[in-house]
Amino acid sequence: MESNILNKVQTDLRNFNPDVYTKIDVENTLLKESLDIDDFATLLSPVAEDFIEEMAYRSKIETSNQFGNSISLFTPLYISNYCENSCIYCGFNLQNKIQRGSLSFEEIEEELIAISKTGLQDILLLTGESKSTSLEYIGGAVKLASKYFNLIGLEIYPVDVEDYKFLHFCGADYVCTYQETYNKDQYLKCHLNGPKSNYEYRFNSQERAIKGGVRKVAFGSLFGLGDFRADAFATGLHGHYIQQKYPQSEISFSFLRLRPFIHQNLKYGTDVSERQLLQLILAQRLFTPFADITISTREDSQFRDGVVGIGVNRMSAGVSVGVGGYAEDLKGDEQFEIQDTRSVKEIKNFLYKKGFQPVFNNYIYL
Ligand code: SF4
Repeated sequence: MESNILNKVQTDLRNFNPDVYTKIDVENTLLKESLDIDDFATLLSPVAEDFIEEMAYRSKIETSNQFGNSISLFTPLYISNYCENSCIYCGFNLQNKIQRGSLSFEEIEEELIAISKTGLQDILLLTGESKSTSLEYIGGAVKLASKYFNLIGLEIYPVDVEDYKFLHFCGADYVCTYQETYNKDQYLKCHLNGPKSNYEYRFNSQERAIKGGVRKVAFGSLFGLGDFRADAFATGLHGHYIQQKYPQSEISFSFLRLRPFIHQNLKYGTDVSERQLLQLILAQRLFTPFADITISTREDSQFRDGVVGIGVNRMSAGVSVGVGGYAEDLKGDEQFEIQDTRSVKEIKNFLYKKGFQPVFNNYIYL
């Protein structure tokens, strides 16, 4: 049952103590061919921070074995920033006085055409959670996207199995739902009001999406909201248990840190350094070598360029995080401040220069 995985992750989380591991534990873990849950915890521990180079060396080999020199590219399209939730880390939260907007179907199509001209074939459609972004509206946007793109992802509010079935029928291939933090008390503090305050319903969304027919589901935490090592551990296990239960499904992980957003008036969360973020990425790659690992434009170009191929195999390019912004001016304000503003062409050129092959969809190499 759905709650089975929730119980397993919560139990593992309760037993997670990253401070018990020693340097010898890390060295022994790095000699193993495949890693178990305790090995994953070892590589997430503070002491393993001193082994970043060794982890990176092995992670690079694993990434290359799984994906060759290919790096998948995609871009997000925000179609609405109306939201009924009060997530304290997000510029779209209900209390934030920003310019709100939703794209009409005509505007969505214009944006899709503009993006498709860059050659991208993988698009991620995003919305906040609001009555104005009904299932029918999202389904209509997915149908339009399927005219121009081969891979369509959704980063929307969690829905029921029947709703995922409908969205899959419209053309959705993958679903991203990030738990933000797996610590339930912390989660409830960050999501005081609105439907997102339902921790369990959000946790089980990947499982419902798979039952609805989508082939890939993505997991992530917003590192800095809670204990980042515990959140990385729980995120990895959430994907691991889903993959064990649904071996036909693909799993994907996104690595996200807190970013400033418009009208931000609270300082919240803990700082996660780049080195620590890198450690989390490497540990995930070594634990689940076959999984997609995505790095977002929340990180700057230097960091993104550095992690490509040594753990990361997927990245966004030419990104706008406001509503629209590819064909016309933004119709609504942005969700957060992006660090890497490079165009698709610039990212492509960088990848070629570094000896990587930019991949625009699962089948065509450009
Ligand atoms: S994170 Fe998502 S649900 Fe929360 S306020 Fe932002 S758009 Fe709304």
